[in-house]
Amino acid sequence: MFIEYIPFDSATEHLVITEAQQQELDQRLMDLRAKLKALFIAFPGDEEQFGGCLAAGRGFVHLNANGAVEACPFAPYSDVNLKHMTLREALNSPLLSKIRNTHALLDQHKGGCALFENKAVLEKILFEN
Ligand code: SF4
Repeated sequence: MFIEYIPFDSATEHLVITEAQQQELDQRLMDLRAKLKALFIAFPGDEEQFGGCLAAGRGFVHLNANGAVEACPFAPYSDVNLKHMTLREALNSPLLSKIRNTHALLDQHKGGCALFENKAVLEKILFEN
């Protein structure tokens, strides 16, 4: 599993891999997949082939140690907790639903994390709740 650096604040944004490094990583993964019978995943790089950001239940959600259901491990925002509801109910929370419904916008990013890149949009969604 290849986990790319995802910035949590803009002061570290320069640590995100470059387009050239992204291409090198893609090539290395293709070589490994061709050579070895094993599963190799790059995250979030591989999201591109699945239509972009997979957060908020579009592909997965993240459950933190306190039971909060978060959009993604790299987007630790939550408005629901499994202590009070089922996972099915949690997936329909206002926050997770709104993130899924803004997917067209979250698909428009330059690599790295779509939610981070569209942080202002996410904060607006959070503010509305
Ligand atoms: S929030 Fe970022 S890292 Fe998480 S699934 Fe979306 S694009 Fe990928």
